[in-house]
Amino acid sequence: MDHEPGFDTLAVRTGQQRTNEREQGEPIFTTSSYVFRNAAEAAAVFSGEQPGNIYSRFTNPTVRTFEQRLAALEGGERCVATASGMAAILSCCMALLDAGEHIVSSRAIFGSITVLFNDHLSRFGIETSYVTPADLDAWEQAIQPNTRLLFVETPSNPMAEIADIGALAELAHAHNCLLVVDNCFCTPALQQPLAMGADIVIHSATKYIDGQGRAIGGAVIGRTEQMEKVFGFLRTAGPSMSPFNAWIFLKGLETLRLRMEAHSANALNLAHWLEQQAQVKRVYYSGLTSHPQHELAKRQQHAFGGVLAFELKGGKEAAWHLIDSTKMISITANLGDTKTTITHPATTTHGRLTPEARASAGIGDGLIRISVGLEAISDIKTDIERGMRN
Ligand SMILES: *Cc1c(COP(=O)(O)O)cnc(C)c1O
Repeated sequence: MDHEPGFDTLAVRTGQQRTNEREQGEPIFTTSSYVFRNAAEAAAVFSGEQPGNIYSRFTNPTVRTFEQRLAALEGGERCVATASGMAAILSCCMALLDAGEHIVSSRAIFGSITVLFNDHLSRFGIETSYVTPADLDAWEQAIQPNTRLLFVETPSNPMAEIADIGALAELAHAHNCLLVVDNCFCTPALQQPLAMGADIVIHSATKYIDGQGRAIGGAVIGRTEQMEKVFGFLRTAGPSMSPFNAWIFLKGLETLRLRMEAHSANALNLAHWLEQQAQVKRVYYSGLTSHPQHELAKRQQHAFGGVLAFELKGGKEAAWHLIDSTKMISITANLGDTKTTITHPATTTHGRLTPEARASAGIGDGLIRISVGLEAISDIKTDIERGMRN
């Protein structure tokens, strides 16, 4: 066999190493530490002369299988699994940045990452400048001699803004910077940033990689050179993934492409339907031809993902009424679940922003975000339609 295995095969098969029990599934190694045959072997493994497990803060076979499988799907040399998506971005920054260095970030990123950059990294002398993700000139102008990382999430949440990954990678490399992409919303099933020139991908595995709302986890994927540094931070500082969670995420990866296609199909169907409703002012979804970067999204994504937002003409009152009228859809800020979820960004996920910052991000009081699940699309529409009545 000398042909390359396809994505679906990698998703199902990569990394599995059967034990002597000849199990069909992947075992969960619930062990804090590992034993050596003798003192000489312990010394050789500790010194790094001989590969081997020492302690589950560093390595665990179940976690390693997950890392190998996700690295294969993203097309990266190495993956480091972390305790959460936030631990993934923190580990990246701690491993790759020095005091006095600078980040240029899209302003449309996950809220806690903004807090990490502004309130925590700043205490160690690392400053961040924010730009509109689609504005390449703004990215270039924000780069300083001490800039080391460009950070972007695409498509963004909740406004589905698209950044050009290939163009940002070129810009980063022209200035001796690394491009880090948060690939949480597309996952490697729909978008592979490393193949487009990005240096590092981060994930919140909590979202679509699990896909069923069961566990918190994250990952960093990239070249060995940078991943060794990320791993070095992780094994010392300890934001490691638990083997139980790694097993859940492994199972999630096996059905990832099928789920992402089903989420995307439901979301596109819902987006078209919402565009036709009299009460809806505007729908934000990169799969719509009305989206300003639809062509770019089509080029860099296989499909458009499961998250969309729409603005109601009636403002906050109409938005809350629609949310409160649902009977099936879950009212929660989480996303990437088989169950459809609904939230009012202005008073939840983006409630900590100042009104000016919310306005500049385009998040109005009538905005609703939906993470479209895998229920029958007719039932999702019926549930949303309940609160559409004037
Ligand atoms: C949820 C999320 C994160 C943070 O991940 P946790 O697993 O909650 O720590 C980072 N980026 C994006 C885009 C997210 O949606």
